[in-house]
Amino acid sequence: MSRRACAITTDGRFVVGANVENASYGLTLCAECSLVSDLARVGGGRLRAISIVAGDAKPIAPCGRCRQVLFEHGGNELLVDAGDGVDPTRFANSFPAPSVRQIWTCARVSELLLRSRHHHYET
Ligand SMILES: [Zn+2]
Repeated sequence: MSRRACAITTDGRFVVGANVENASYGLTLCAECSLVSDLARVGGGRLRAISIVAGDAKPIAPCGRCRQVLFEHGGNELLVDAGDGVDPTRFANSFPAPSVRQIWTCARVSELLLRSRHHHYET
């Protein structure tokens, strides 16, 4: 399925991205990641506003990985296209807060890191 992304940086440059599907779903290159690569290609900077659309040109939500990538390059102030006739929303208000499962996963990762450190000191 076709995905396209376009964003403007805080200093007024446009960057773009397109998805590239792969037979192995997990290896698909998302349009948002492609866009961030374009941002790096043109010298980096911060994203001010972004539109991510499917083949029908309607806005779509980024996957979890891309939310993290976009957050790191635009932060909570990044404006996200919400569709025709609708004001763009701030990144912070566009997506649900981390789920209980995600929080649990973070806690679990922290625990595993502590254990591995402890194990390292013992050996
Ligand atoms: Zn993605």
